[in-house]
Amino acid sequence: MPPNSPLLDFRSDTVTRPTKAMLEAMTSAPLGDDVLGDDPTIHALQTKVASLFGKQAACFVPSGTMANQCAIFAHTSPGDEIICHDGSHILHYEGGGPAVLSGCMCRTIQSIDGTFTPDVLEPLIRADDPSFSRSRLLILENTHNRNGGTIWPLDRFAAVAARAAELGLKRHLDGARIWNACAASGHSPADYAQHVDTVSACFSKGLGCPIGSIVVGDAPTIAKARRARKLFGGAMRQAGLLAAAAIHALDHHRQRLTQDHANAKLLFAGLANLPHITPDPSQPAGPTTNILFFELAPTCPFTAPQLQARLAEHKLLLLAAGPRRIRMVTHLDVTEQHCHQAIEILKKVLT
Ligand SMILES: *Cc1c(COP(=O)(O)O)cnc(C)c1O
Repeated sequence: MPPNSPLLDFRSDTVTRPTKAMLEAMTSAPLGDDVLGDDPTIHALQTKVASLFGKQAACFVPSGTMANQCAIFAHTSPGDEIICHDGSHILHYEGGGPAVLSGCMCRTIQSIDGTFTPDVLEPLIRADDPSFSRSRLLILENTHNRNGGTIWPLDRFAAVAARAAELGLKRHLDGARIWNACAASGHSPADYAQHVDTVSACFSKGLGCPIGSIVVGDAPTIAKARRARKLFGGAMRQAGLLAAAAIHALDHHRQRLTQDHANAKLLFAGLANLPHITPDPSQPAGPTTNILFFELAPTCPFTAPQLQARLAEHKLLLLAAGPRRIRMVTHLDVTEQHCHQAIEILKKVLT
């Protein structure tokens, strides 16, 4: 880990610090004023990412939350209804953004792993009646954060998106961790993106950037998202500084995501030998990407928040994701060695 973070930090893949090479790419990037539309590094990033996703246009934004909210704003009108999974990020972790920023309702779908089948959609579509909100937008999440870092199988994803289109819904993919889904499955970003209207993606998670996300789609939709970005206060000036980090990360940090996935599996295997720990229902056979959840059995003397505090005293940071549920995330700044150290600390505290 970098010298300024002596802890074993498994709280999130957002805790990474920029590497020296990334900082060098940032300081040598040509810059302009992106609100005036002349930052060349922003243009280079947006062109590169639009092409990776096979879409016409892209809009760089400060956060994944803003990327999702700009997409929602672009697709909807006040009074519209969004259909999303019950555990989705837009529902739990974006401050009620769909209601506050776009005047939208959310209607949800339940499942253990965050994926579902096309047949669940039709019963959720509201009839055209002045009493009802308008069913407008389906949001899918890949990988699915809260439900196990799950990858949508491409055929299931395509079938759900196709059914949504038949039912008259726009389709947005919350692809904050689409890079992980692609690294683990071997599919390209465009393989997923071709089935939806817009995609958001984060550079500030597995790819290791300090700041930055993006939303891609066709040109008219991205023009609307760009208006929303200005409205929400996210239009930035010499933003090429951040775009340079993202370009560097796309070129150098995508291949290595499989290492994070291997490290998460290593943690899961290590935990199997410890007392009081049971697999999480969302990933009974262990993690498929970089997010590991586990449960504390009724025999465990600690609740998840208590265990979190106890481990922090041993310089191991992770997050309680519920009263008895724990989350650990692997990333650029944790090594295989750190994972072995984490298992040792867990063993010491739990036995
Ligand atoms: C992290 C995340 C986001 C956006 O997060 P920010 O912290 O706003 O960048 C959006 N969706 C999912 C699924 C996420 O995991």
